[in-house]
Amino acid sequence: MINARRSTEAPQSLAAGTKYNAPDVVDTLLRDFLGKCYLCEIRISVREHSVDHRRPKARFPDLTYAWTNLFPSCRDCNERRPAFPPEGLLDPTCDDVEARLAQTTQADARDNSEAPRFAAIDATDALAVATARELHYLHNGKSVKAAELRAAINQRIDEILERVLEFRAHGSATRGPVRAAWEEPLRLDFSRRAPFTALVRGRLGAGLDHLFD
Ligand SMILES: [Zn+2]
Repeated sequence: MINARRSTEAPQSLAAGTKYNAPDVVDTLLRDFLGKCYLCEIRISVREHSVDHRRPKARFPDLTYAWTNLFPSCRDCNERRPAFPPEGLLDPTCDDVEARLAQTTQADARDNSEAPRFAAIDATDALAVATARELHYLHNGKSVKAAELRAAINQRIDEILERVLEFRAHGSATRGPVRAAWEEPLRLDFSRRAPFTALVRGRLGAGLDHLFD
């Protein structure tokens, strides 16, 4: 999960209070959240998106059409999200989730895969603890959807790991335009616009944070 900047003006159609997923809402959400699910950071298209209520509409009916309660998510995360906890959850548009959550992947020796790991930076930060629990469930739950998500993350980590190793072996000693040419693909890999930014940065970004946007 990465920080996001929400458009200050609510999409016009919300004012009618009849539809929370009209095209202007979806377009603005996808633009504000760089075309990704706010929970798992997978890329989503206009066709496969869903509009998630951070505070579920069943429990918070007054917030059904509230712009600040609407988030773009993949259908899997929307359907699989655990119940909203009593302490609440972080909101990536107003809480600094990147500073409050440790997000990375950890090699699992048993099957050579990378398991996503989420933790609160400060163990007394109740909202961060609850959000880490939510993200852990979505990524590491026993469902087929969670396994598919982990496979996509693993593939992405593998690809970038290869480029990072190449850079460390051959590119890091270069200078000037040659160095810039080496760094450009990594800049795209670590960008907020790329999939799984938080996990990719956590796993592979050490010493390369000058390339983060
Ligand atoms: Zn998702």
